[in-house]
Amino acid sequence: MKFVGAHVSASGGVENAPLNAMKIGAKAFALFTKNQRQWVAKPLESKSIDAFQKNLELSGILPKHVLPHDSYLINLGHPEADKLEKSRNAFIDELERCRILGLDKLNFHPGSHLVKIPKKDPLYEEKMMEAELHCLDVIAESMNRAIDATANSNVKLIIENTAGQGSNLGYRFEHLAHLIDKVEDKSRVGVCLDTCHTFTAGYDLRTKEAYDETMEAFDRIVGAEYLMGMHINDSKPPLGSRVDRHHSLGLGEIGWDAFRFIMNDTRMDDIPLILETINEEIWAEEIKALYALTES
Ligand SMILES: [Zn+2]
Ligand SMILES: [Zn+2]
Repeated sequence: MKFVGAHVSASGGVENAPLNAMKIGAKAFALFTKNQRQWVAKPLESKSIDAFQKNLELSGILPKHVLPHDSYLINLGHPEADKLEKSRNAFIDELERCRILGLDKLNFHPGSHLVKIPKKDPLYEEKMMEAELHCLDVIAESMNRAIDATANSNVKLIIENTAGQGSNLGYRFEHLAHLIDKVEDKSRVGVCLDTCHTFTAGYDLRTKEAYDETMEAFDRIVGAEYLMGMHINDSKPPLGSRVDRHHSLGLGEIGWDAFRFIMNDTRMDDIPLILETINEEIWAEEIKALYALTES
């Protein structure tokens, strides 16, 4: 069974997110548990926590089908010590907010090395590879520290694959595997595949053959058991462009077939499938359209 929803607004308080999910007929949702563009947020008030849990129950959506997303400011691979420290602390706070809300996942982008090497440098490839590998180790260390700091928690750290724009890591399945390999407590880690990011990172999804090949590569390199959520987006830029621009379903370069493969793939059963498409006015229609693709 599939659990489809969208990244809904939590403006006015986290307790509004389940209500916003209900309004569009969602069976899953994502949210920010704090303002995603600010470093510091005041702790969640018990009034807000209680209302969130009450509204979640009202929506009929299970906590495991909620996929909170962390702040865009956090970079767990930051090359500067003070900024890395700030990110690590903010990440631990986000994990705590999820636990307090009774949720069991936190979705995050791995991080960026921010190293700039001129393309004309004869050692460009080597230097980039070195920067990436070092950054992946920093991110893994950030994850291990966060897990240690939240030992009382069962909130999983859900690594999202990226388009590989700029110096963002996580655009190769090998990056995700590298992080998981270095995380000591593997019971606290999972992966969220974003269809737009997957596609623009160079993994095709448009035909059954291409889709199968991509998902088999994921299974071989990362392991299908780590797939704990998906972001369902079409893509404005083409395959392999390494540019992150979402589009409404069927209007981008990916097209409906890929979403039909997903809706009929048992690997995506019982995990949150979250729209981050650009026109929230049609989320309800997009959710309906996705369910209509399910073949019995
Ligand atoms: Zn995403
Ligand atoms: Zn994106």
